[in-house]
Amino acid sequence: MAGDVKPATRVVEAGRRVEWTGAVVNPPVWRASTHLYADSADLKRGRPNEDGHFYYGRRGTPTQWALADAITGLEPGAAGTVLYPSGVAAIAGALLAVLRPGDTLLVTDNAYEPTRTMATGLLGRFGVRARFFDPLDIAGYRAALKDGARCVMLESPGSLTMEVCDVPALAALAREHGAVSVIDNTWASPLGFAALAHGCDIAVMSLTKHVGGHSDLMMGSASAGEPWHGRLRQTAQALGHVVSPDDAALALRGLRTMAVRLERSTASALEIARWLEGRSEVARVLCPMLPGAPGHDLWTRDFTGGCGLLSFVLAERDEAARARLIDALRLFGIGYSWGGFESLAIPFDPAPIRTEGRWPPAGLAAEDRLGIRLSIGLEDAGDLVADLDRAFAAMEQE
Ligand SMILES: *Cc1c(COP(=O)(O)O)cnc(C)c1O
Repeated sequence: MAGDVKPATRVVEAGRRVEWTGAVVNPPVWRASTHLYADSADLKRGRPNEDGHFYYGRRGTPTQWALADAITGLEPGAAGTVLYPSGVAAIAGALLAVLRPGDTLLVTDNAYEPTRTMATGLLGRFGVRARFFDPLDIAGYRAALKDGARCVMLESPGSLTMEVCDVPALAALAREHGAVSVIDNTWASPLGFAALAHGCDIAVMSLTKHVGGHSDLMMGSASAGEPWHGRLRQTAQALGHVVSPDDAALALRGLRTMAVRLERSTASALEIARWLEGRSEVARVLCPMLPGAPGHDLWTRDFTGGCGLLSFVLAERDEAARARLIDALRLFGIGYSWGGFESLAIPFDPAPIRTEGRWPPAGLAAEDRLGIRLSIGLEDAGDLVADLDRAFAAMEQE
């Protein structure tokens, strides 16, 4: 595949090797556990432990390899990609590939909540010490690195509060101090942020979100250059991680339209962010694509695209008011996850979870603290604005 084509073209081309697709467009769903060998000599010869050499179903079939190869093709600097049964499994797979008992793991304070729980819970039980840092406080982060860390876990933007951190600076500092940087790049995907090219060692994504894109599958991935790709692979095999070929085929189908879906949901999210900014009920819009919003400068510097996920903080409203707003929405489902074709809304309140930094964010009053996160889908943006407009009116009717 030509390296000089644009990402939108790579999304269409990547992973479509003729040895996997044959004479059709998509690789067939290769359901298999067992390889049948021609004879004893063939069995004895074995198969190299790499994608492309069928050995046993747990090491994948052409359907999974095609998906992994396609993601590698989108991630500049990646030697390969390992697939996992969920995004959380991918985060676990990456951290377990890096950490040993006695190590310190630095975790960004805006991390996805299950990542926090994994760091203090599961990894804690195996002798890893977790420390949280404010992703916007580089001096504090540098001091934590000086105390010794084996690994840093980044996430930018944070998937609830949308802070964009200076990933190139944080990754470079990690490397300087001998720490491995892992980033949860689910929000931007490699189309919006080339994580490895910006200095991260391992880029993790929940494929459940933008890649699947249709709210009907769970999967995760981790991409890296060597030696990390090899270690990810070894660790995933030791843990017995494998994804279903049916799900891999669905994810690959989703991937082919990801660039246009992201373009559309980004444009709609920006339109909605602009509208929210003009509302007196809203204390702050958290959307890095929006000029003047927190993180916009770094987003403009480092990112090549956005997505439909944004949040806002209500001005001086209580939980009952927030519930009235959310319950009045007709075009937004109430539910976790995001990146599907359909819009979603959930309430969030990071204060009890986070340990560093501040919430409400700087510049807001203590009463401006209740968040709502929107995942903007592929509906007409004007219809979504009208739905929000009606819901804001319903919020004020006690
Ligand atoms: C959803 C999500 C995950 C976890 O992915 P699953 O596929 O649901 O396990 C990880 N990180 C972020 C930022 C997410 O939003």
